[in-house]
Amino acid sequence: MGALAALALKLSPYFFVKSPQKWRIRRVRDGARHARPPWRALQSPVYIRKKVAANKKEKTQKLNNKTMNKYIAYCRKSTDEKEKQVLSIESQIEELKEFATKEKLRIVCFLTESRTAKSLGRPVFEEVIQKIERGEANAILSWHPDRLARNSVDGGKIVYLLDTGKLLDLKFPTFWFDNTPQGKFMLSIAFGQSKYYVDNLSENVKRGNRQKLRKGILPNKAPYGYLNEPRLRTIEVDPVKSKIVKKAFELFAKGESSIADISRFFQKFGITRYNGKMLHLDTVKRLLSNKFYIGIINFGGETYEGTHKLFLPPELFGKVQKILEVREHPKNKKHNFTFLGLARCAECGCAITAEVKHKCYPKTRGNVDYIYYRCTKKKTDCSQNYLREELVEQQLRAIVAKSSLPASWAQLWLERLDKEETGEKENDETKISKFSSTIQEIDQKLDRLLEGYLDQIVDPQIYQQKKNELVELKIKLKEKMASISKNGSEWLGLMREFIEVAADAAKIARAKHNGEELSFFAKKVGSDYSLNNRRLFCVYKQGFAALAAGAGAASAIPNDSKNPFLWTLYEKIRTEFQR
Ligand SMILES: [Zn+2]
Repeated sequence: MGALAALALKLSPYFFVKSPQKWRIRRVRDGARHARPPWRALQSPVYIRKKVAANKKEKTQKLNNKTMNKYIAYCRKSTDEKEKQVLSIESQIEELKEFATKEKLRIVCFLTESRTAKSLGRPVFEEVIQKIERGEANAILSWHPDRLARNSVDGGKIVYLLDTGKLLDLKFPTFWFDNTPQGKFMLSIAFGQSKYYVDNLSENVKRGNRQKLRKGILPNKAPYGYLNEPRLRTIEVDPVKSKIVKKAFELFAKGESSIADISRFFQKFGITRYNGKMLHLDTVKRLLSNKFYIGIINFGGETYEGTHKLFLPPELFGKVQKILEVREHPKNKKHNFTFLGLARCAECGCAITAEVKHKCYPKTRGNVDYIYYRCTKKKTDCSQNYLREELVEQQLRAIVAKSSLPASWAQLWLERLDKEETGEKENDETKISKFSSTIQEIDQKLDRLLEGYLDQIVDPQIYQQKKNELVELKIKLKEKMASISKNGSEWLGLMREFIEVAADAAKIARAKHNGEELSFFAKKVGSDYSLNNRRLFCVYKQGFAALAAGAGAASAIPNDSKNPFLWTLYEKIRTEFQR
């Protein structure tokens, strides 16, 4: 009989449903036979638990269910479950009530939830678990196991509560369950099936998406300006809305509209949220930066090449991106502060830093960014003030312009320099030959001096003195010779470069939007730039100082080779370079 029962126990889960009493008695006897006498076994918690579980069956049958399991009725229908076979929450409640009356179950509360069970984080389900953990209830009534769990964690929680004895029973009108190893096994299969259903569904969706992406079709709702073609399942240009979107891009590209302005513009022309309200600013921002408009599909973190038609010129899109970027990260933006590192504060010697300030003129210009330069004031309390970038640029242009040479002058000066160069070379040669003959003379003198000394005509003291004088002179002459042959025309090269730079200066100072070049050029013309009371000063480099000093005159007499001032200035600068 024992062996037969054990066989049945292994074979049929229905065995327990059919004869719970038998099961209880047998279990006790079996345990008692192997371990302890029946009266001791009665004290075993295992026995008591089993007894309660078994009692439930007895008492439901014996209409004695008042002290029995306290059921929580849990109903769920997620918003995305469109299938007809899933009952609505209301009908689930009705069904459960009916079932409870029939089965004489005691329901302590109804909890309903409209959320998916695919993922974690259902607050009402958590409440159910907590109530059971606190002992407020010890059983759950629900339509089907898939109402309770469609993910592995929640399913595991239920099974664990059953294992720890906090959850004693589960009832489903559509599914048989008993709190036994077999029952739990069946339950896990039911949970697994629900999960399989979900996984399979999402796998099917994924497969569909992949297929669309392979064809270059966005598997989502079409962005504004496009529409989902329902028959061909493609994305087409919306003839009306595409024009509105394009207009919005153009508006934003002008740089005078805020995101909110664009959202208002959309609302004006009927692109709104489903309730007619203005689009969220984030939505507009995403719209303005959606690469779909230039044919790129971003899906699941990956990029695909779209096959949809474009209605936006890519240049317009690029322009909008630049504006968005500047607006988004005004501080992180690597602002190429053009004149950074050029000047120092004249008052305290600290470096000059640059920063962007945002100003908003809502009625006229909208958002405007200004760049200011100011002393970092790191060392002491410095009284220097801010200076707008435009003013720095303006002054820098003036500095460069002042040290410029009119092109006609530069030409005359270079011609003169060429002549002087040839003259200079001849001059150097004569100088060198002159020096070498002098050195020869010295050598002869030294020879004679030595002879006289050896013939004891010259006094040793005088000989030593004379000899030293002659040798020193010889060394000096040799140094001069070396310097002439080495850098004889060095000043010529420097002067030539100076003339060329000074001629460029006029052009650079006149050009527009060349801040970078201007800043670079300024360092050629001058050094030690400093800011004092919003005025920019510098020390002009060799040659440029003279030009700057004579700047007024130079501009007054633009082109006259016979002008004496032109040549006095030339000579002045030449002497500077010859030094
Ligand atoms: Zn300072």
